[in-house]
Amino acid sequence: MQYFASLLVLPDDFNLARLCERILEMNKRSIVVIGGGPAGMMAAIRAGQLTQERASLAETTPLIDVVLIEKNLALGKKLLLTGKCRCNLTNACDIETLLGKFHKNGRFLRTALNTFSNTDLMQFFEGRGLPLKVERQSRVFPATDMSLSVLEVLKKELAVNRVRIVYNAQLKDILVEDNQIKGVLLKEQAGSQQRVGDRVVTQASSLSIISHEEERVGDREQLLTAPYQEAGLTKILCDRIILATGGISYGWTGSTGDGLKIAQRLGHRIIPLRAGLVPLRIKGHYPKLLEGLTLKNIQLVFRCGKQQVTSEVGELLFTDFGISGPLILSLSGQIVDWLDADKKDKAVLVSIDLKPGMSHEQLDARFLREFNANPKKSIRSILKFFLPQRMVDVFMEIAGILQDKQANQINRDERYRLAALFKGLQLEVIGTLPVEQAMITQGGVSLKDINPRTMESCIISGLYFAGEIMDVDADTGGFNLQASFSTGYLAGESAALDE
Ligand SMILES: Cc1cc2nc3c(=O)[nH]c(=O)nc-3n(C[C@H](O)[C@H](O)[C@H](O)COP(=O)(O)OP(=O)(O)OC[C@H]3O[C@@H](n4cnc5c(N)ncnc54)[C@H](O)[C@@H]3O)c2cc1C
Repeated sequence: MQYFASLLVLPDDFNLARLCERILEMNKRSIVVIGGGPAGMMAAIRAGQLTQERASLAETTPLIDVVLIEKNLALGKKLLLTGKCRCNLTNACDIETLLGKFHKNGRFLRTALNTFSNTDLMQFFEGRGLPLKVERQSRVFPATDMSLSVLEVLKKELAVNRVRIVYNAQLKDILVEDNQIKGVLLKEQAGSQQRVGDRVVTQASSLSIISHEEERVGDREQLLTAPYQEAGLTKILCDRIILATGGISYGWTGSTGDGLKIAQRLGHRIIPLRAGLVPLRIKGHYPKLLEGLTLKNIQLVFRCGKQQVTSEVGELLFTDFGISGPLILSLSGQIVDWLDADKKDKAVLVSIDLKPGMSHEQLDARFLREFNANPKKSIRSILKFFLPQRMVDVFMEIAGILQDKQANQINRDERYRLAALFKGLQLEVIGTLPVEQAMITQGGVSLKDINPRTMESCIISGLYFAGEIMDVDADTGGFNLQASFSTGYLAGESAALDE
């Protein structure tokens, strides 16, 4: 409380460096969390909770300050986009299924998910007044259908746990001595660009500091701002840092890989960054012709040499460059592996089964019945019963059948070819969108350099990692956010309990 009283009477020329000195005079230790995404927010909340609990047991003011540093002027910019702005925050499956979604890296997450499971996460939000709902494939969303309501709960909880937030400040480096954390170097984001809706606007340069006091009032107008006087870097001394700066996808939200570069400089191995959950580029002009068309209830088989992977039944969306949709995103990790330039010596093919519920023979018999019942009808108009209208012409071109042929002019071979095409319309995958446009980043800080029980670096004492900055990624379905929340929670807890 004493600290906040001093914050409220800041002189006009007050700057961050002096604020930091004052934190150090009054508090022996501080935990600095870098990155106000889901992982960083949860890490700061948990560290703040434990700090507050201890202080209230000892009937003193907290001896540890928890400071959350965010380079944007707002928290959770990417979080707001998740689940098409509805935020698929977790998955209501059992823990073993959850772990299985992280492929070979699932084992690393066991402690984090046991410490703060999907059930705990659901209780966290519901217990704070945000009802949730479970949709198909056990995906969990806020009942409001708005990611903003998830962010609001997190922001309130940061305030309740007296986390100090520094906006518009970019981590530039981490100070280390004898493999021990000593502090951070921050830089004000001069004239930072912020995205508002689909516009990019340039903000006036100001480093905004808000205390939990103002956040609790909830009035943005009352935010305390301290004009940052000196150009250059500001140093905050601390002995524990939680690095939660995310990966490199959707960089305009703030995730530009800063933390990865710093972690690498400090000696951590970085698993090469690649696109995860990403649309695929397809050879030829068909995607362009079909752009915007969604095929429902289809199944995909991807092949590369002898390797093969089959999707569930679901939806496929054609885009101007190729194909997207949940089935594609889910399998894209595997396809990225196959497309990896170093390994690629065989074509990657995808075949679309447009009628997964019918065998080739059943489909052929169905065509035969239809053609016999409508001998004078053009094959083009008959196919409209079986296919979306926009697809018919493309389909006939690929099948090599003249558009105005009548049903009674179709021979057995042609009919057979049509049925085969319905069961396996083949396209060649030639690449993916770049990682910046992928939903997640595969790769990151090697898990070999992080203690799975604490999230602490095995190289630098007092440095913790949380969220997508690590080499952890999963399928769609709420798993990636769960991993961010769980690792954030464990990192916050470990940092707060680290004596
Ligand atoms: C369009 C889209 C939809 C998605 N939908 C879902 C979904 O429905 N469910 C799901 O589970 N996952 C979803 N994801 C994935 C999920 O959003 C991420 O896995 C998650 O946000 C990662 O959290 P994080 O806190 O680790 O990193 P981020 O959310 O990337 O947050 C990192 C934060 O660190 C800040 N930062 C970076 N560098 C610095 C620096 N140098 N100094 C200070 N601050 C810094 C950034 O500004 C940012 O605020 C989606 C992703 C995208 C792009």
